[in-house]
This record gives sequence, C-alpha cells and structure tokens, in this order.
Amino acid sequence: KKRQRIDKILGHLGYGSRSDIKLIVKQGKVKLNGIVLKDSGTQSNPYSDQIEVDGEPIMYREHVYLMLHKPPGVVSATEDNWDRTVIDLLPAKFKVFSPFPVGRLDKDTEGLLLLTNDGQLCHDLLSPRKHVPKTYEADVLGHVGDREVELFQQGVELDDGYVTLPADLKVLERVTQEDGNVLSHISLTISEGKFHQVKRMFQAAGSKVIYLKRVSMGPLLLDETLPKGAFRELSESELEALK
Ligand code: URA
Repeated sequence: KKRQRIDKILGHLGYGSRSDIKLIVKQGKVKLNGIVLKDSGTQSNPYSDQIEVDGEPIMYREHVYLMLHKPPGVVSATEDNWDRTVIDLLPAKFKVFSPFPVGRLDKDTEGLLLLTNDGQLCHDLLSPRKHVPKTYEADVLGHVGDREVELFQQGVELDDGYVTLPADLKVLERVTQEDGNVLSHISLTISEGKFHQVKRMFQAAGSKVIYLKRVSMGPLLLDETLPKGAFRELSESELEALK
C-alpha cells in the first residue's frame, strides 16, 4: 500500500482541512509511531504506521463492516427527504468511510442490518444466485400452523404471481389475546429477498405480519446485546465467515 501525506490521511478521516491539520500538528497533538510529529506533510503508510491524534490511535482501513441493530422508524437508505436513515444513526468515526446498507429492511422492521463500503461483499451477499439465507422472527395475526409450514416449504404465490423458493417456517409460540384472537410468534428462513417478502408471504397465506425482526443473514447473527439503534464492527471471525 502506498505512502501518503499525513495531512491527506487525516483529512480523509474527517480531521479537517489541510490548514486545520497543520494547526493540530503545530500544537503537538499528532504522533507518528510514538513521536510527536513536526511536519503535517510527512509521508506515512497509514496501514502499518501508528498515527495518534490527541492520544487516540486513528482507525485507518479501506473497508468497514458494521452490524446495526436497526430500530423501527428509520429507513435503510443513505439519504431520504422525509425520514431518518440508518446513516443518520452512524457515529462520525464510521461515517467517514461512507458505508451503505447491504439490502433493505422495511421502515417498521427491526433487527440485523449490515453496513459496509465493500461493494464486492455487498454484491456477493445480495446476488440472487447465492441464495444467502435470512431468518426473521415475526408476530402474525391468526393461527399459523402446519398448513402454512407446508405452503411455505412448497412455495407460495405472491400478489404479483411470483412463486417463492422453499422457505423454512417454524411456529415458536401461540398466544391467545384478551379479545380471544390468536397471535402466532414464528421464525421464517428465506433464501431470496423480494420486496416485502415476508409480509407478502403471510398475506398470500391469509394472515398479517404485525411485527418483524431479522435475526440472521447467512452466518451472521444479530448480537442481542447490541441495543436498538447501536452499531458495532464485525469481529474478525464474523467477517471471515461472511467472505
Ligand atoms: N420481508 C419484509 O416483508 N420486510 C422486511 O423488512 C424484510 C423482509
């Protein structure tokens, strides 16, 4: 990897303009490999050198891989005229990498969303030919049982005539509500990603999804210790498993 001027490296990471960086260097706030830097034009390899600003090592890498526990009410886009986006939830230290969501969850859907600036990985995970499985948990109005399990295993015809690939439905729990109506808590694994797919599969079966959460995507599981709205970087083993 190439060497670059330190003011360029720090500029890329959001530390300000060339003159802003010249100033913090002059103030003695920047260290290169443990030594206070004198000249902001010094060349460095940001991948192998240790650069610190105010005692904090900078995070320099080409790609970031972030897990978001998506809360309801935000859209899976990088920009939107009306709604808050998942990017609006990103801490600044990650924003400089310009990550984007890998696929979409509906505005009201919660759970696992991967964000990255690695276009190749994004493409591989979303490729229809790869059939990356995604597991959702949902609350569905009405009694979901063997009929739906079989229907989804065989493939169900959606409102536009598309017949879904075999999907694995498990009924986790059924609750009778105060009004006497039944609510089914289910888990559904699908290997494709049509628009509103889970909701439309249940619609085709005559019921309605009232709560939806994604819990896994391929080998990646939602970290349930991650609060809603919070991000963390993928661990090395998670990334290894995805690639
Ligand atoms: N299926 C849906 O209907 N909505 C989502 O957000 C994800 C899958």
